[in-house]
Amino acid sequence: MGQLTNRSRTLEQKPLTFWESLYLPAIFKGMAITFGHMFKKKPTINYPEQKRPFSPVFRGLHVLNRDEEGRENCTACGLCAVACPAEAITMEAAERQPGEENLYREEKYAAKYEINMLRCIFCGLCEEACPKDAIYLSETFAPSDFTRKGFIYGKENLLIPHPIKDKENYEVAKGQREQQIKNK
Ligand code: SF4
Ligand code: SF4
Repeated sequence: MGQLTNRSRTLEQKPLTFWESLYLPAIFKGMAITFGHMFKKKPTINYPEQKRPFSPVFRGLHVLNRDEEGRENCTACGLCAVACPAEAITMEAAERQPGEENLYREEKYAAKYEINMLRCIFCGLCEEACPKDAIYLSETFAPSDFTRKGFIYGKENLLIPHPIKDKENYEVAKGQREQQIKNK
């Protein structure tokens, strides 16, 4: 049969030398590499006690944002869902009722907002598409779970803590990521 290229070579199998046939030099060489690694700095990190710093471009778990008065920013316009290449976002819009002005910033809000974290590829397009600064990807990631249902994150998982009523957790959830987005 003709050859497709002229790059093929016929390899010759050389007979083992006396030392090679003992295998000991190769074993000692392997052991020396193993012992050498024993005295090197360990790259293992004791997660979750120890955490690695994330890259500034890391995109983690989504956060649904509130304004400085604690009102939800999202108006359920659906742009994030349209932009999502994984079709991971679903929502149901509702109209703000009189007396709810302190809960929702605009006349429309997301009564239901869900992200399927098993579908999400953390591309950040939802964040880019949002005209209301209502969603951003934070510096944390979705914890593991035993069921598929556990990866469907609703508003109870996504909404940032109240900036006045729960200031400490609000600051933690906010992290540095939002500022980095604004600086872009
Ligand atoms: S990060 Fe990307 S894949 Fe995940 S919900 Fe947003 S747009 Fe969809
Ligand atoms: S998160 Fe932003 S883009 Fe998505 S529905 Fe809410 S306001 Fe619209």
